[in-house]
Amino acid sequence: MTASRIDRRAFSGSTLAAAAAAVFPMPALGAGSSSRVVVIGGGFAGTSCARELKKIDPNIAVTLVETNRIFTALPMSNSVVAGLRKIGGQQFEYRAITAAGIDVAFAAVKAVDPQTRQVALVDEKSLSYDRLVLAPGIDLRWDAIPGYDRAAAEKMPHAWNDGAQVDLLRRQLTEMPDGSTVVMSVPVAPARCPPAPYERASLIAHYLKTAKPRSKLIVLDAKENFSMQRLFQNAWKELYTGLLEWVPLSSGGQVVSVDVASKTIKTDFDSYRANVANIIPPQRAGGVTALAGVADRTGWCPIDPITFESKQQANIHVIGDAAIAGALPKSASTANSAGKLCAAAIVQLLAGGKPRARELASACYSLLAPGYAISITAKYRPVDDQFIEIEGSGEISPLEAPQSRREEEAKLADDWFTQITGEVFG
Ligand SMILES: Cc1cc2nc3c(=O)[nH]c(=O)nc-3n(C[C@H](O)[C@H](O)[C@H](O)COP(=O)(O)OP(=O)(O)OC[C@H]3O[C@@H](n4cnc5c(N)ncnc54)[C@H](O)[C@@H]3O)c2cc1C
Repeated sequence: MTASRIDRRAFSGSTLAAAAAAVFPMPALGAGSSSRVVVIGGGFAGTSCARELKKIDPNIAVTLVETNRIFTALPMSNSVVAGLRKIGGQQFEYRAITAAGIDVAFAAVKAVDPQTRQVALVDEKSLSYDRLVLAPGIDLRWDAIPGYDRAAAEKMPHAWNDGAQVDLLRRQLTEMPDGSTVVMSVPVAPARCPPAPYERASLIAHYLKTAKPRSKLIVLDAKENFSMQRLFQNAWKELYTGLLEWVPLSSGGQVVSVDVASKTIKTDFDSYRANVANIIPPQRAGGVTALAGVADRTGWCPIDPITFESKQQANIHVIGDAAIAGALPKSASTANSAGKLCAAAIVQLLAGGKPRARELASACYSLLAPGYAISITAKYRPVDDQFIEIEGSGEISPLEAPQSRREEEAKLADDWFTQITGEVFG
């Protein structure tokens, strides 16, 4: 534990004290007698945590810092890519959060000083905290695939971290002629929502089948195995034979470089020319975690599974996709549960108590075609400083099932999305 460490990159070029004074020149906002909690990142994890904190103890001054005024939810966004939903149905404002008594600051974070417990925003304001919660989701690793940088993503969208990218991929698919080749790349683990690339592959194949049947989707996978693999592959055989080709790592699925100008994707074994390329690069915790000194060499943030407190910095908690803690999956459903458990732990810690270990549930639905979904659910609990999956708690859709069961799960997927976005943003 390096509780007193300050990230020196944010303060380079002068002494630490002088630099800190320069970055934190304003009097801290929110100073008062009650405890102050600052939450950075208004997604599934951060917003859930901020709301739960206020619900448990209305006297805590809670500030939620978020870059965007409108949040775009990624669950169900593969349906937007396939033209089955509109992007507007994915977007949410923060009015209900403000109405719940939470200060919402729309700004990006410039620096975090764990020693003086302050957060500097780009608009020159600073916020002081007793406890800080980091929930920034993921950043894409722009250094991981030669040729694939931010500019390349405007031509070969990832559609993995924002709504504009989802729209761009949709537009490219609608504008390409029939007889086209779509190439999609799937990154190594750990990454956001392990089944989501395969849901996307299924729904792109559905779009091709219904709108551009002479076209083809090639899925280049940096992995050999994936979540719910047999269920996906059975469905691909049943629904998308001849339209979808999956290339695992052992057959040359790992992308080694891309060339944007010629829309070429290179692997160890082959070269693919695409009309539309959807490159999902490797990922790491959102950048603010590095500013706060809570990300380790893997790029993710190790945490205590009971309090969600960083193992690298005291008084800073990390929740959602940015955290890494054993078997805990990176999903909106987990982010929502972790946000609530973290809030409860913080309230106890602020009162001098000792939080107890609690279970956390996860549920993830994947739509493979309209009216055809599968799911995976599990429960996790802290053991030996990590989350482990509770034996027997997990459930996966059956391999053999009537269409009515797949239809039922598609309805449950819709209900799940309505419920979770209503709870977090409504
Ligand atoms: C295609 C796709 C499909 C998916 N489907 C499902 C599904 O069916 N079920 C499921 O459970 N999960 C699904 N997920 C995963 C889910 O979207 C993530 O696991 C979830 O969003 C993680 O929540 P989070 O709060 O950690 O991050 P996010 O929800 O991404 O929120 C992070 C927030 O932090 C903000 N932020 C980042 N840095 C800063 C900063 N420095 N200052 C201020 N604000 C900042 C961002 O703007 C963002 O609003 C899917 C993901 C994708 C890509």
